[in-house]
Amino acid sequence: MSFNFKDYIRVIPDFPQPGIRFKDITTLLKDGAAYRAAIDALKEAVQGLEIDVVAGPEARGFVIGAPLALALGVGFVPIRKSGKLPGETVEAAYDLEYGKDKLAVHKDSIQPGQKVLIADDLLATGGTIATTTQLVRQLGGEVVGAAFLIELGYLDGRAKLPGIEIRSLIQY
Ligand code: 5GP
Repeated sequence: MSFNFKDYIRVIPDFPQPGIRFKDITTLLKDGAAYRAAIDALKEAVQGLEIDVVAGPEARGFVIGAPLALALGVGFVPIRKSGKLPGETVEAAYDLEYGKDKLAVHKDSIQPGQKVLIADDLLATGGTIATTTQLVRQLGGEVVGAAFLIELGYLDGRAKLPGIEIRSLIQY
C-alpha cells in the first residue's frame, strides 16, 4: 500500500500562538500502518548514509528517531531538555520558532568518530537541529545527515545546516 503522508497530517491554525499553522503529527502516529510506512520511508530515504547511531531531540524526535534507529539496526541517543538526564551532560541554549530552550546530551552517549543521523518530526527554522548538531559535534560525533517527517521549506531551516544531508518525507 502506498501512502500520501501529507493526508495524515492535521494542520491546526493559531497553535501555540496566533499566526502559526501547527503541523500535528499525532493523526499519523495513531494510524499503525501509516506510522510504520513513514518509518520505512525514512529508512529508505537515508539509504546510502553510513550511520552508527541515531540521535533525536525531545519529545517528537523520540517518536521518529527511536523507531528509525530500530529499523536501521543501530542505537538511539536521546537529546533532552536541560535537567532531565541523570548522568553527566553537555548543554547548549537555542532559539525556537516560538520561544527559547536548552538541550542536553549525556557526555558518554556518543563516541568520537561515530557517524550520527539526527532525526526529528519537523524542520522549521533549523534551530533545534543546529543545536543538536552542535552537541553531537562537541562529543566528537560526525553528523552524517538529518531526517524529518516534515520540512517547512518557507522557513529555510536548511540554511542553518550547511554540509548536512537533509531528508524529509513531507514538504510545505
Ligand atoms: P525549529 O527549531 O526547526 O525552528 O523547530 C523545529 C522543532 O519545533 C521540532 O523539534 C518540532 O517538534 C517543533 N515544531 C515547530 N513547529 C512545529 C509544527 O508545526 N509541528 C510540529 N509537530 N512540531 C513543530
